[in-house]
Amino acid sequence: MEKNLSLEEIQSFKGKFPKQLWYLFFSEMWERFCFYGMRGMLTYFMVHHLMMSETVANLQYGATQAFVYAFTFVGGLFADKLLGFRKSLFWGGLLMITGSCILAVDPKEFFFIGISFTIIGTGFFKPNISTMVGSLYKSDDNRRDAGFSLFYSGINIGALLGGYACIYLGKNYSWNLAFGLAAIVMAISLITFVFTQNSLGPIGLTPTKKDKNGNEIEIKKTNQYLVYLGSLLVIPIIMTLVSKTEYTDYFMYLIGPATLIYLFYEMSKCNKEEKKKLFAALIFIVFSIIFWAFFEQSGGSLSLFAANNLNDKLLGVTADPNGVNNASNSLFVIIFAPILGIIWIAMSKKKIEPNTLIKFGLGFIFLAIAFYVFYATRFFADKNGVTSLDMFTLAYFIITFGELCLSPIGLSIMTKLSTKNLQGVMMGMWFLASAYGQYAAGILGAGMASTGEHATKSEKLITYTDGYYHLAIYALIAGIIIISLSPFIKKLMGNVK
Ligand code: GLN
Repeated sequence: MEKNLSLEEIQSFKGKFPKQLWYLFFSEMWERFCFYGMRGMLTYFMVHHLMMSETVANLQYGATQAFVYAFTFVGGLFADKLLGFRKSLFWGGLLMITGSCILAVDPKEFFFIGISFTIIGTGFFKPNISTMVGSLYKSDDNRRDAGFSLFYSGINIGALLGGYACIYLGKNYSWNLAFGLAAIVMAISLITFVFTQNSLGPIGLTPTKKDKNGNEIEIKKTNQYLVYLGSLLVIPIIMTLVSKTEYTDYFMYLIGPATLIYLFYEMSKCNKEEKKKLFAALIFIVFSIIFWAFFEQSGGSLSLFAANNLNDKLLGVTADPNGVNNASNSLFVIIFAPILGIIWIAMSKKKIEPNTLIKFGLGFIFLAIAFYVFYATRFFADKNGVTSLDMFTLAYFIITFGELCLSPIGLSIMTKLSTKNLQGVMMGMWFLASAYGQYAAGILGAGMASTGEHATKSEKLITYTDGYYHLAIYALIAGIIIISLSPFIKKLMGNVK
């Protein structure tokens, strides 16, 4: 493995992608295997083995997701200030392995403690690996979005494999084995990272700080150990918060405003140009909350819609509608993310690549069309309220393009708009938006489910598709707003495209 590459050498790579991207791609792919593997087991396990009601399990699931993404802010913050991205990632990986091992020993007995380790671990791992991808590129390199698109395929390969394999093992063989698999795969992720990290040169090393005389000095080791210790000490608190979902509400009311106050404090130390860029990043973050709130219907209301109102024929072949609901998006991302990446590069060579604002706007337009198609499934229903799985899958096909115009592009723009000392924090805020999106998705989905338990399939079809119609309109409005705000946001972004 090569040593001592300089940042300049790394960032001056030839071809479409830097080779370090592939190393990060594989680490992230295996981490997402573990994460989505766990995520896919949670609700099922809670209902069938912890004997929770479906409502409680759903709330509990929502709380876990919200906490996972909320802790990315904390992980990003400590990476920026004390640990650096590499150590954070390593620590996060260790915690995730520990969490999965605890669950593998006795998932029933140690459920909440295992999950809490995973929550904190993901917080340290997830934002920081994404930030390192951004560091592989010079600030004006227009291959960056394509790199993030490729990285995003890795995420989805892991999600698809893990999402399928873990629950399959759990249901058919043993839950200990299923959680054990997550631990093994997470270990593979970490080993991949450890053995390839030298190729990253100075990227992700522990930050330095300035002393009174302006000299760069090292961060005290004791402060770093305190972060490790602190993250272990909060585990019992997380356990309590996750196991009582009413606390999630309070947590969500608090964490957003608290992070904003912190960001404004950091912004006060920046110059005017930097402030404007960070403000632009914040606008992208706010829009992404709306996007995720709609998109994440997939885990909630769309999975109930799939269970109640869809037939089981996909292009004439028998298929489980819930399986299609869970897997089609990942599959489409895997196929189309690299293709879209190559299209972005080709367009940028011809100087016709749409800028980030237009991509974001397009993301919302695709989202609106997709929800219109979810709505339009009502026109294909039989008299019992059962409608076309083909149309439903078409909507997932369209929504995937929306995701690809927003999610990898969002990661990319965070790395472009953040100042060097706030990279982790801003990436954390990007994922914090997902936490709010997940949280809002649950509330929206619960609103749609309000026809009650005893409604007929036809009544449910009408209520759910009415809901999707409204989401389509709101997504369209959001898309129009972002495109019409583009001259203003463009000014804030300065030289960033
Ligand atoms: N599916 C993507 C991932 O797991 C994006 C998640 C998100 O930001 N909500 O990384």
